[in-house]
Amino acid sequence: MRGGKLATLRPVAAVGAAMLLMIAGAAAQMPDLTGVEIITHPVAGNVYMLEATKDVAGNIGVSVGPDGILIIDDQFAPLSDQISAALAELSSGELRFILNTHYHEDHADGNEILSQDGAVIIAHTNTRKRLLHRPRGHWPVITFDHEASVHFNGEEIRATWYPNGHTDSDLVFFFTESNVLHLGDLWNSGTSGFPVVDIEAGGSAMGILENIEKLIPTVPEDAKIIPGHGPLSDLAELRSYRDMLEETIELVRSKWESGMTLEQIQQEGLQPKYDSWGYGYMDANGWIEGIFRSLEQL
Ligand SMILES: [Zn+2]
Repeated sequence: MRGGKLATLRPVAAVGAAMLLMIAGAAAQMPDLTGVEIITHPVAGNVYMLEATKDVAGNIGVSVGPDGILIIDDQFAPLSDQISAALAELSSGELRFILNTHYHEDHADGNEILSQDGAVIIAHTNTRKRLLHRPRGHWPVITFDHEASVHFNGEEIRATWYPNGHTDSDLVFFFTESNVLHLGDLWNSGTSGFPVVDIEAGGSAMGILENIEKLIPTVPEDAKIIPGHGPLSDLAELRSYRDMLEETIELVRSKWESGMTLEQIQQEGLQPKYDSWGYGYMDANGWIEGIFRSLEQL
């Protein structure tokens, strides 16, 4: 979910404390994966979602069918056996493609183990750059800059790059026949969750808003949406997320422009209607800091 030195990290309660341990980079550590299970959720058509309990890792999108298996993201390497077992329950087919939404370890650390039997890893060019410090097995084999499609299990799976939002390498995937999208951490925590901005990796709070605004008109009304983390969602909830982004960024921007410090803005807080948000990885102060640091980059 996050990488490098994240100025925006403000973990919430126990989940946050666990997440703090998994900051990517040279000193990366795993969160405690003891007792974590992989739960399979049917989504629509060919598509399933694999969720790690305790929300320790990103959601996996799965396509199963006559061509075999394709997955979007692959969580942490120590969960690979459980992920493989969950996939085997869905299909006896071969795992042929691994698509990465971005490089964070809770989404891409399984690359090396899960590609051992020949699955091809596909990702944005910047994701490959950000994985080159890791052993070769983690490296995406096919990369692209803007758009690409995988034609698999009777449908086009379209990958579109959305620049500089959560990171500089965020891909959104659209299963065009199953009518399902996987948004990666562009939508970090589903409904009622503030996003994480990985400033060190080119992320931007305003970029997240711009990307979500660009994305919404392309999403069919009845599509199912897999967020980077959290439960399966839909367009109505994505619109609520967009509204929150717009209103909170505007609030922080006006205070920033008036010369207030980060601490002063945090003290005043966000609009009261967002008091119940931030249950996941990011509390309101962390999100305010994400916006503030993004404004400083302008
Ligand atoms: Zn991430």
